[in-house]
Parts: sequence; C-alpha cells; structure tokens
Amino acid sequence: MIRAALAGNPNVGKSTLFNALTGLRRHTGNWAGKTVDSASGFFTAPDPSAQGGKTRAELTDLPGMCSLRCRSREEEAALDCLRASPPDVIAAVADAGALERGLRLFFELEALGVPLLLCVNLTDEAEKRGIRVNCEKLSSLLGVPVVPTSARNGTGLTALKTALVEAAVKSRAPASPGESAAEANAGAENGGEAGAGAGDGDEDGGGAGIADPYERISRRAAETARQCVEHTGRAGRPGGRTGKRDRRHDRLDGLDGVDRLDRLDRLDRLDRLFCGRHTAFPAMLALLLFVLWLTLVGANAVSDVLGEALDGLLELIRRLAGSFLPAVPLSMLCDGVLTTVFRVVAVMLPPMAIFFPLFTLLEELGYLPRAAFCLDFAFAGCGSCGKQGLTMLMGLGCNAAGVVGCRIMDSPRDRLIAVLTNSFVPCNGRLPLLLFALGCLGLGGFSAALGLAGALCFSFLMTWAASALLSKTVLRGEPSSFVLELPPYRLPRVGQTLVRSLLDRTVFVLGRAVTASAPCGLCIWLAERLTVGGEPLMERIRTFLDPAGRALGMDGILLAAFLFAFPAAELTLPLALAGAGGGIEAVALARGWGTETFLCVIMFTLFHWPCATTLLTIRKETGSARRTLLAALLPTAFGCALCALIHLLFRAAGG
Ligand code: GDP
Repeated sequence: MIRAALAGNPNVGKSTLFNALTGLRRHTGNWAGKTVDSASGFFTAPDPSAQGGKTRAELTDLPGMCSLRCRSREEEAALDCLRASPPDVIAAVADAGALERGLRLFFELEALGVPLLLCVNLTDEAEKRGIRVNCEKLSSLLGVPVVPTSARNGTGLTALKTALVEAAVKSRAPASPGESAAEANAGAENGGEAGAGAGDGDEDGGGAGIADPYERISRRAAETARQCVEHTGRAGRPGGRTGKRDRRHDRLDGLDGVDRLDRLDRLDRLDRLFCGRHTAFPAMLALLLFVLWLTLVGANAVSDVLGEALDGLLELIRRLAGSFLPAVPLSMLCDGVLTTVFRVVAVMLPPMAIFFPLFTLLEELGYLPRAAFCLDFAFAGCGSCGKQGLTMLMGLGCNAAGVVGCRIMDSPRDRLIAVLTNSFVPCNGRLPLLLFALGCLGLGGFSAALGLAGALCFSFLMTWAASALLSKTVLRGEPSSFVLELPPYRLPRVGQTLVRSLLDRTVFVLGRAVTASAPCGLCIWLAERLTVGGEPLMERIRTFLDPAGRALGMDGILLAAFLFAFPAAELTLPLALAGAGGGIEAVALARGWGTETFLCVIMFTLFHWPCATTLLTIRKETGSARRTLLAALLPTAFGCALCALIHLLFRAAGG
C-alpha cells in the first residue's frame, strides 16, 4: 500500500478532493480555516508496476497551509504530520485561479524532499473567470506531473489517483544515480532553478542572485504562473470598468494580476451589502431572521406529523414486543428507552434538518467569514480577536465543533477566550427547548422567529460581555492582529448541499443524541420507579432541587431536567416533560409554569454548563481541568445571575 497526502493553501478544495477520492465525508465549506486536523482514508487505483493489478493507497488530508514558515497551529500540525511520517508522495493542491499562490507553497514543499505532484483544482471556476492553466507547460517547467481537476464536478479524479500511485511507485523503485525524485526536487530548490527560471532566459524571474530564499520562491512562483496562466477572452471583456479599480482588486488578492471584471461585477454588489459599513449588520440580522423563520415554519409543519408517526410506531412496538416480553422489561423498553428516544427525535429532527442545511448553504456561499469580518470591530472592543466571530457562529451548529474550530486563532490568549465563551451561543440541540419556551409565551410563526433571533443576539452580546470580562481579569492582554481571508463567493449546489448536510451532519448529531438518550431514558424510568423512603427517587431529586430551581425562577423539575441532560442538551425538553401526560399547555398549567418560568427557561437554556461532549473537547483542547471547569462555571454563573434577576423583578412586580 502506498501513502499519499494532500497539502495546499486553505480553501482550495483539498477536503472536497479527499471526499471524492476516498468516499468519506469530511467537512467542507467555503472559508479558510475550517480544516484544523488531518484525516485519512483509502482509495484504489491501477498499479503501473503490476499489469492489470490494483494498488490500495492511504490518503491523508492535511489542514491548509499558507507557507511552511508555520504561523498557525494548523500549519504546524500539517508540517509535523509530513515530517513525522513522510508520505510516498504529496499532491500539492493549488487553486487554478490563484496559481501563483499555490506555486509558492509547492516550491516550499520541494525542500522536504518528498516526491511531489501538482493538482490544479477549481479549474471550472477559473474557466468561468477566463483563466486557463497550461498544465503541460507547467509540468515541463516543474518537472513533476500536473493534474487539472474540478473536485466538485468530479473531473480529473481518475487521472489524479493514477498520478499519485505512479509517483509513489516510482519513488519506491530503486533509484538510478541522480534520478531519485527527492534529488530532483532538492536540485530544483538548491539553485538548479528547474522551475520558473530554467530556460526562460529571465534571470530575475528565477530568482537568481536573491539571497532571501522566500523572496526567490516568490519570484519563481510569479514567473512560472506568468508563463502558464492563459487568459481567455471573457474576463478581459472591456466593460467600462476602470483600470484603477482592477489593479486595486488584484493587489488585494495578491494573486496573478488577473483581470477579473466578470467576477467583480457580482462580487462588489454582494460585498457592498454583506460587508458595507451601513448594511452589514442589517443584512446579517435579516439573514438570521430569515433562516430562523424558515426553520420554525418548516419544523412546525413537520413536528406534529412526526410526533404522531412515532407515537404510532411506539404502540406497534409495544404490541409486537408484548407478545413475548414480560411486563417489566416491556415497560422498561417502551416507557423508558423508546419514549425518551422518540421524544428526542420528534423535537430535534425537524428544526435541525432545516437549520443545518440552511447554515451549510451560507457556509458554502462564503458568508461565514464575512459575518466574522463584520463582527471584528465588536470583538476587538472586548479585547478579543475577530476570528472569534467565526467560532461563535460555528457554535450555533455544535459547541464541540466550535471549540475545535478555535484552533484557527493564532494567539493562545485569544484562543482560550474563544474556547471558554463558545457555549454562550446555544447549539442546535438547545433549539427545541427555546422553541418550546417561546411557544409557551404565546409566540408562533414570525413572532417566534423574532423571539429566537432576539435570544441569539442576546447570547452574542453575552459572549461579548464574558470575553470582555475574561480579557480584563484572568486573561489580560492585547488582542492579536490576524489575517482573515474572504473567499470568493461560490454558488452552492443547492440539491447536493442539502442532501449531504442532511445525511452527514443531521444524521450524525441525531445519532449522537439518540445514543445519549437511550440510557438516559432507562435512568429516568428507573428513577421514577425506584423508591427511597417510600418516595420515587425522581421525586426526591426534584424536591431536593426545588428551592434552588425556584430561586432561579423555575422549579425542581426543570432544574433536574437541565442536570440530567448533561450527556446531550437535546434531552432537556423530554426530561422536563417526562412523567407528565397530556399536551404541553396541560403540563404547564398543572405544574404552575408561567411567563416568569418560561423567561427563565430561555435564559438558562442559553447560559448553562456545556454538554459532556463539549466539555471533553474543551479538556482536550486546553489540556487543563481547571480551564474546563471555568468553561462550565462561567456560562452557568451568567445563567444563574440572569435567572435570579428575572425572578427578583417578577417578585418586585408582584408577578
Ligand atoms: P479545503 O479548505 O482546501 O479543504 O477546501 P474545501 O474542500 O472545503 O473546499 C472549499 C470550497 O470550494 C467549498 O465550498 C467547495 O464546495 C468548493 N470547491 C472545492 N473544489 C471545487 C471545484 O473543483 N470547483 C468548484 N467550483 N468549487 C470547489
């Protein structure tokens, strides 16, 4: 078996290529920094050394690198991985529309002495912009195979597999003197100028005589790109745009000096809206509201039908299992495990199945880093770094993912602030409880969407406040400067994105919730039936917690639900309703829950300890039990303080 690795700049389609080659489902998205760790998978390809035979290859997808002069943790991780166990071949992945940048990394990778090939991806996008890379010429200049691909459309993948296997097999074959790929590559680096400079007669182009190796690499990359990038007519269309504006854009991109009039037209308009001084925030709020409204309307339509279908299924299972199971195990299965699992599915699946795909569409479009860009000044104001906006938005999907995402921050201080405050933003699993509480407050449809948007904005505000608190106390220091890449807008393939995010993210999170809820259902069943001192255990726990619950504007039942939902936040609602019959209104009435209770439920849902998975992730990321404890205590303290405040206000108002 051969070992290959995909290395390249961030956001050039490495993970999309990796998924297409290995059939795995690694997270992809249109923003730099989402891949923070390596992953491995396998593919097979024809073996050039065995006629008709096949070779199995292990492929590693590395985090994005801008350069080998590691500045970020992902870059360090990628380089460590390459150095610790050098693969047989590295495919340096470059964006066809930003070849010069990809070549800079390619020339740096040459120095590692591992056989290389160049994969020029995103060719479809480049072609639309009037850019074509002459891969034959590039290959002869670089002295390595160059494979054009479009990972999203699946073109060039077979050629890439074959090239990877051929290069690896060749590198393993006993080298004839002076012919090993490593030597060839090293020769290119050490003054052979086999790349850009060779044969072009342009001394400067090859970087000859320049002492700084990176300067030399930059020159070589620029010159090679100049020779191999062809501009077809479309992008050069004279269209009334001024040269001044084009030059400004090229300088901003720092790329090939490519004329991008077609793209500019659309880009400018969207960025004027999403990043404009006066429009960015209204646009962000409008988008948030729209996504939440669609989620709510869609979820309402499906929830009842799904709930009834699952009730029917439960009855069917009860009847079927009743024919061979004795009464106690039957009740344990149906009233304990399945009732809880089905409740979790019924409350969680509809909003999640709508929210995740919508969120993924925005991610694929390239909106996420723009939202972070707009939030930058706010985070700078609280002594933190603007990239926290990105990790905060990731937390909306899942806090554990948001915490891992904090690796995109270079400064340890900023990273820690982002990790400790990530669970101030409610993850998807907390949405059902928020919707329940909003519904009980009489909000539905658009007003519920407004309420939810308000709750989320409040959680953003508290994230800001907690970050400010940390940066002024235990984590004093200056916010670090950072580079945030704004990727080009990419129109997502709606159908594919919806299906993939449904199948991958939704099913994954749902699977995790079901796994956590099954044993939890069993515990609830036991706690409701086991008696201590003549009283069911559950009742005793609820009675014990009641004073604390009431001080927080809730009661023992709700506080117990929050505590028992520690394995997964999705469990809180089923736990809160456990043991109660009838509709939600009847339960609320019977238990004396009113406006104060539901407001406090909203507050406590927004701010309390993160779930077990998130805490484990925090422990792993920070390597410190004390910091993990702080991550649990900080949001809980905010939640308790806010709930106690609401309770006091209601008492003062005589409510
Ligand atoms: P990575 O950071 O290098 O792993 O990049 P990803 O695989 O996450 O891809 C970044 C974005 O580019 C995603 O939105 C992909 O859908 C998109 N993408 C990847 N490859 C192609 C391609 O060949 N053509 C087009 N049009 N988009 C692509």
